[in-house]
Amino acid sequence: MNYKKNDTVTLDIIDIGQDGAGVGRTDDGYTLFVKDTVPGDRVEAKIMKAKKNYGYGRLSRILLSSEDRVEPPCPTARQCGGCQLQMMSYPAQLAMKEQKVESDLRRIGNFQNVSIEKIVGMDSPYHYRNKAIFPVGTDRNGKPVAGFYAGRTHTIIPNTDCMLGCPENHEILEKVLGWMRKNHIPAYDEQTGRGLLRHVLIRKGFATGEIMICLIINGIEVPARRDLIQSLEAVPGMTGITFSSNTKRTNVIMNGPVKAIWGKEYITDILRSSKYGIQVWYQISPASFYQVNPIQTQRIYEKVLDLADLTGKEIVMDLYCGIGTISLFLAQRAKRVIGVEIVDRAVKDARKNAEINGIDNAEFYSGKAEEVVPAIYEREGIRADVAVVDPPRKGCDEMLLQTLISMQPEKIVYVSCDPATLARDLRVLADHGFVLQFVQPYDQFSNTVHVETVVLMSRVKEK
Ligand code: SAH
Repeated sequence: MNYKKNDTVTLDIIDIGQDGAGVGRTDDGYTLFVKDTVPGDRVEAKIMKAKKNYGYGRLSRILLSSEDRVEPPCPTARQCGGCQLQMMSYPAQLAMKEQKVESDLRRIGNFQNVSIEKIVGMDSPYHYRNKAIFPVGTDRNGKPVAGFYAGRTHTIIPNTDCMLGCPENHEILEKVLGWMRKNHIPAYDEQTGRGLLRHVLIRKGFATGEIMICLIINGIEVPARRDLIQSLEAVPGMTGITFSSNTKRTNVIMNGPVKAIWGKEYITDILRSSKYGIQVWYQISPASFYQVNPIQTQRIYEKVLDLADLTGKEIVMDLYCGIGTISLFLAQRAKRVIGVEIVDRAVKDARKNAEINGIDNAEFYSGKAEEVVPAIYEREGIRADVAVVDPPRKGCDEMLLQTLISMQPEKIVYVSCDPATLARDLRVLADHGFVLQFVQPYDQFSNTVHVETVVLMSRVKEK
């Protein structure tokens, strides 16, 4: 049958797609992606966009509820673009993520019959994020609001109490909105480019309790500072009230330096491994990348150490190292660690973090891993015994993989936030003599579709 826009169809939801929408099939085999559905549901949906072989629909009615369907605890879960899976029970979310890693390794990586460790879930899948950036806008009554964008739009869904974030966000955002109302401070308007406050960034060190706030403003000064400081400094843990100027009409959130108007420009946090007796302090500035889920991050880093299995004699490369978080864990068990990271500011933070912790066997290079690693291997002859890679979603650059293949480290530990590019990269390594030894998914981003995976590949020993 030929389906068209605005048709109402009945579907069985059989899977979850890339962006978290359910994959539905009509009785005659047409595929429709429908947000807010769960595998096992039978639903009625309205077609919003129809292509020949598939389309996109909107959920109108649930005819039969999946066993895995739960009531989302957050009242704005359906409109908000932040969470995609709140209506799915947590055990079902975990099973789906484990399945995704298995199927990507099989389909994209052509690894048949890989044994995958059970996914490491969270004890509680809420309030795990240490950082959030809230867009600020104006509602129909002219009142300032803060919240999240609805999926794929820039419409703000007001919500100062996101269930993924830390509980302090609510009090802080309400205080900022109160300061705006009292002092008639307008929210930024993307359409006109006018107004002042664009975004509010809040970050908390879970181990130290330190909190920082950064206001991203369309201007060069924060007005009514005294009032803002007076209200925010009372929040327990408040360590720094800062701002960053962004007067460009762009979707880039932050592009300038951060200035403190009260307290410090950074917070400190600690990541630990009790198994290895490691405790590392990190200084984190508002713009630096820092893993958002510290509970799972510590588990992942500990697993990286397990898999690297260091004796203290090794040279280890930590590629895509950010502010050196993994590097400084590795440095405690290796002879020498070389971190490589593209963002210059993060490299400076990494060096500073090594210094704070009295670590002198870790050095950091700023640049693209695919350029720096070939340069230090080919020109300086530095070879890694163990390489750790933790790339962004697009995975490793081909040139980096080729260099690792020539360099022949004993082990490669791959920390991935996208199983599809992970599978692609592992196939390249497997075709050149590395053997897939261990795969463990982690639920680092509960209630969202994202899944983190830690993998060990080792070199086949020559006879
Ligand atoms: N390992 C760190 C950061 C991982 S996030 C941690 O656990 O905190 C991925 C990092 O890769 C980011 O810091 C990003 O800036 C960096 N990056 C992206 N492309 C890169 C490239 N081509 N070469 C080196 N680093 C890159």
